[in-house]
Amino acid sequence: MGPEQAPLVMARQKDDLPAPPELPSFRVEPSEDDLDHRKRSAMERHAGTGLVRHDAFLDEAAIDPDAAKVVRRLERNGFQAYLVGGCIRDLLLGGRPKDFDVATSARPEDVRALFRNCRVIGRRFRLAHVLFGQGKVIEVATFRKSPQELEVEEDLLIRNDNVFGEAHEDALRRDFTINALFYDLDRRQVLDWCGGMEDIAKRTIRTIGEPSVRFREDPVRILRAVKFAARLDLGIEAAVYDAMISHREDLARAARPRVFEEILRFMRQGAAHRSVWILWEAGLLSILLPELAAFLDDEESHPERVARFWQQLDAVDRYTRSHGPASIDDAVLLTILFYEPLEEAIANTRDRIRAVGDFLGPVVEHIALPRRLSDSMRRIMAILPKLRAGRVVRARQGEIITLATRVLELAGAKR
Ligand code: ATP
Ligand code: MG
Repeated sequence: MGPEQAPLVMARQKDDLPAPPELPSFRVEPSEDDLDHRKRSAMERHAGTGLVRHDAFLDEAAIDPDAAKVVRRLERNGFQAYLVGGCIRDLLLGGRPKDFDVATSARPEDVRALFRNCRVIGRRFRLAHVLFGQGKVIEVATFRKSPQELEVEEDLLIRNDNVFGEAHEDALRRDFTINALFYDLDRRQVLDWCGGMEDIAKRTIRTIGEPSVRFREDPVRILRAVKFAARLDLGIEAAVYDAMISHREDLARAARPRVFEEILRFMRQGAAHRSVWILWEAGLLSILLPELAAFLDDEESHPERVARFWQQLDAVDRYTRSHGPASIDDAVLLTILFYEPLEEAIANTRDRIRAVGDFLGPVVEHIALPRRLSDSMRRIMAILPKLRAGRVVRARQGEIITLATRVLELAGAKR
């Protein structure tokens, strides 16, 4: 079945669907009379913006205490401050957030004035990073508005999105409804301007606004949809899935380092198998990694290799789930991703390094694979036969041996 005939709603692959999350009961904006003064002023904050508030008692213990500290200090100093984005989405879906981001009405300079351990970073959009122990960073971003209300170029590609705005504008500039929820820590409410809570309950990925417009503005969002669907086991709304497919060629216009970063994220977070499967099914893989798409499309000529390819991604996912996200070196992840096609390309060649180089050349070009990584991949592949044969290898190659050993383990390739 070609991607064009793919089912409209992305079918889940498993029968044992997770039950919809147990959401706290929500309520719509209450009547004015039952508000005490403090609550009323909070309610008036976003009057007339189409806000729906949901009571949602998120587990305090799951919220990063330093992020909470940042929010409370900003609020105490008269600014609005909320936990936003991925962390709220993950908490509502029962996951463990990777990091906690804060959105605020305070300008970066205001944030810096309130926190000694603070750096203002970024030129395109300035953000405050508040630094805590053990390298923890809480990102504090000033509310920004959608570039749609600014001057938008003919081709819709966003080039400048650094204009400060209001909380609701900051919610609506985001990509998916489930990523646009704000959490008011003190009032224990989720602030929702775009129906995100409903989509959380339905476990569905939906763009804020017209999908084809949002994907044209930033084609990397297509990959983000795949990432969230795979990682959080969510469905993708039919119209969104259609737009992902019809705008897949736009990925070629996206900045290559951003695309490359998303490829790494597919591999790093415990859902490599599902991510690559969705990419392939949606016809995105042939644009992203044509060599790999060709390998999978040609399954009939090497069914065992293809079966092993999926098993290797499963092994990566099992390892990541037990050792934590990003617990495998990027060079190992990429070697595993290309392991079967690479083995095929170098079978029966005497100069393995060269054969690996010939295979990787176009890949390097296509996805801007950093030199450091392609070098490691070449060296890992070169050393594998010796490792398999149990031959002693020189000590100065220690780091490569460690990486190559992990590759052997994950590839189940002790043959
Ligand atoms: P992860 O758990 O992978 O970090 P995330 O949703 O937190 O997922 P980030 O890349 O950290 O993703 O971005 C933080 C938030 O910024 C998102 O939740 C989303 O609201 C917004 N965002 C990120 N990338 C985009 C984009 N390309 N277009 C619009 N909004 C975006
Ligand atoms: Mg994040």
